[in-house]
Amino acid sequence: MTPDASALLRWYDHHRRILPWRSLPGHRPDPYAVWLSEIMLQQTTVKAVIAYYERFLTHYPTVQDLAAAPLEDVLHLWAGLGYYARARNLHACAKRVSERGGFPDTVAELLTLPGIGAYTARAIAAIAFGRPVVPVDGNVERVTARLNAIEDPLPTSRPLLAKQAALLNDDPVAQNRPSDFAQALFDLGATICTPRSPACLTCPWQTSCIAHARGIAAQLPAKQPRQARPIRYGAHFLLHDNDGQILLRTRPPTGLLGSMDELPGTDWRSTPWTDEEALIHAPCLTHWMRRGEIRHVFTHFTLYLTVYEACLPQSHNAGIDSSFGTFRSAKRAALPGVMKKCLALTRQTPET
Ligand code: SF4
Repeated sequence: MTPDASALLRWYDHHRRILPWRSLPGHRPDPYAVWLSEIMLQQTTVKAVIAYYERFLTHYPTVQDLAAAPLEDVLHLWAGLGYYARARNLHACAKRVSERGGFPDTVAELLTLPGIGAYTARAIAAIAFGRPVVPVDGNVERVTARLNAIEDPLPTSRPLLAKQAALLNDDPVAQNRPSDFAQALFDLGATICTPRSPACLTCPWQTSCIAHARGIAAQLPAKQPRQARPIRYGAHFLLHDNDGQILLRTRPPTGLLGSMDELPGTDWRSTPWTDEEALIHAPCLTHWMRRGEIRHVFTHFTLYLTVYEACLPQSHNAGIDSSFGTFRSAKRAALPGVMKKCLALTRQTPET
């Protein structure tokens, strides 16, 4: 049975989440707010995003303000939110949007912008511009798998789930309120049809849900077993000068943590480093103290870093090769979460 869009929208009208990027009922959504929040929410929870979103809007109230900002400032503000390619694409996208005088309003045109993939294009098109399309995120996949009792595991079931999710839009009631319908699906998945214990008794779609009728809702969607995450090891060096600055270098613009700042260090490899091996890669010969080890989980590997610390008796330009970086204030650096952990180990936590 096709679920009733009007039942979902009635529920949404009473139970919608209040989110800082969401327009109030009856108000036009701001495409800049929708885009910014959707980019931040990729791979990140609502709870983690709210403070960053508000900070960005305070610094850059419009897309033109964001486009005019230096990339380093944007990366600094983004530091800690992870997946840093998003911040670089965010800045590039803001420039393109600013040049063309605003966001495009179709899925096809949105897809031509940096950092906007299939899901985000559909989310912006539906929420900001009222295009009748269904954006399929993890929440919508879960709801769709359960409504149809699709037992094939993710990720192979993804095309089928997308096809079934698109059918939800066949209801003319959904097509009349595409912005609300998309957000209602997100809210249903986030608050009722939750991953572990779906609250089926309060669900507006309970009577048309096959997984609920069969008593298998909590088991869906099935997932293929994950491969074990590989482990990598590295060592990084915290070097202070006598002006209270630390040695920092900027990573290459592409690749993992691109354009972010870091303490100089070794490669990250699959075998642990001994102290002797690691210290060959130190920026200078001095008395290095081993401060301990941090663990950081990336999507594709787990990283263990040993942190060494030393103080120079003189100020910068102490004959240290520029490939190790320059002495700077940690408070102004664009430090990713993994580097903040290294500094926390040595009580040099920068303000974010
Ligand atoms: S009835 Fe339960 S499983 Fe089905 S859509 Fe609603 S909350 Fe999800």
